[in-house]
Amino acid sequence: MFDTARQAIVPFEPRGDRVGLYVCGITPYDAAHLGHAFTYHVFDVVTRRLQRDGLVVHSVRNITDVDDDMLRVARERGVDYRTLAGEQVLRFESDMAAVGLLPVTSAPRASAHVPEMVRWVSRLQGEGFAYERDGWVYFDTRMFPDYGRLSRLDDATMIDLSRERGGDPADPRKRNPLDFVLWQRSTPDEPVWQSPWGPGRPGWHIECSVLATGELGIPVDIHGGGDDLIYPHHESEIAQAEAAGVAPYVRHWVHVAMVREQGEKMSKSLGNLVFVGDLVRRASGEAVRIMLAMHHFRASWDYDEDELHAAEARRLRYVSAMAGGGVLGAAEAREYERQFLERIDDDLDTPGALRVLDLAAAALARERARDVASDAVRGEDLMQRLLATIGVRLRSGVA
Ligand SMILES: [Zn+2]
Repeated sequence: MFDTARQAIVPFEPRGDRVGLYVCGITPYDAAHLGHAFTYHVFDVVTRRLQRDGLVVHSVRNITDVDDDMLRVARERGVDYRTLAGEQVLRFESDMAAVGLLPVTSAPRASAHVPEMVRWVSRLQGEGFAYERDGWVYFDTRMFPDYGRLSRLDDATMIDLSRERGGDPADPRKRNPLDFVLWQRSTPDEPVWQSPWGPGRPGWHIECSVLATGELGIPVDIHGGGDDLIYPHHESEIAQAEAAGVAPYVRHWVHVAMVREQGEKMSKSLGNLVFVGDLVRRASGEAVRIMLAMHHFRASWDYDEDELHAAEARRLRYVSAMAGGGVLGAAEAREYERQFLERIDDDLDTPGALRVLDLAAAALARERARDVASDAVRGEDLMQRLLATIGVRLRSGVA
């Protein structure tokens, strides 16, 4: 699987029989869109593939319930941020279950772990990596010469991107435009926690490092998210973790490409979000899941209706192949399985794995009338076993 830090496809080597997987979760202020589903689908396939080898996967997907966007939307709607988060988390979990995602092992909320974040920030300050100004604490990026290592961006590009992604490089309290917020003052209507710098709330990046190491220990085996998190979020996570003596912080970084709509990144500000809840009302969750698997995780893609129709057609082909009651010889079935897993194990090539399933389905459709050999494998069993690896469970005969 491609590792963003090494910029290469490298083997993922488990350290034992347990794997710690941390994926950056949602800020629960709005419904899940297709980009969320694509990202979490990818890590669900990773989980299922590792489980297939007998590994125990401890998967953590945090909930960023203390964050600028979260608090702004709660304020606009006149509700407590915890109420808003509670509602949206339930909706998110139901949407993810509808497309066949396994529940994660743990979904910690940032708001429940603020004292640990305060301790971490104090440690960074004590070691000279952080400074306080007017109740705000910043990470001093000049103290960490490797800042930019993960994203491989120069300072000017990082400054531009930081502005685009919610940072404020012009903040006059900062020593350097790239410095990022570890702790901030709350406005009068925002939640507060006590800290050595006065009452306030944590910055976004520190939340994930504290939750990841708290739940999984060090190092984290796989850390991932959408590729818009490489900079500044994950770049800053590496800096604050290594500065606090946590090195290596992560063994394998995995980033998922963006889903676009008519050539534009799906985003709230552009108003072009395709919501998972709407998709599963118009098509089956299985078809939506097949549509996600039709795309390689590192290739950005454009959503349109044809995608959904193509996925639905594929689902019907599989259902019909399974419903025929066809069988395959044991050697032939083993060969399909080998090729399918070979595709998954080659940088999670789910589109290639689906092409193997297409061949198996076509063979089953042809072989219906064949005499049953003593070592025959039921086609339906083979298809279900392989589809389960990508999170699809088809009910045979249900079109
Ligand atoms: Zn995160």
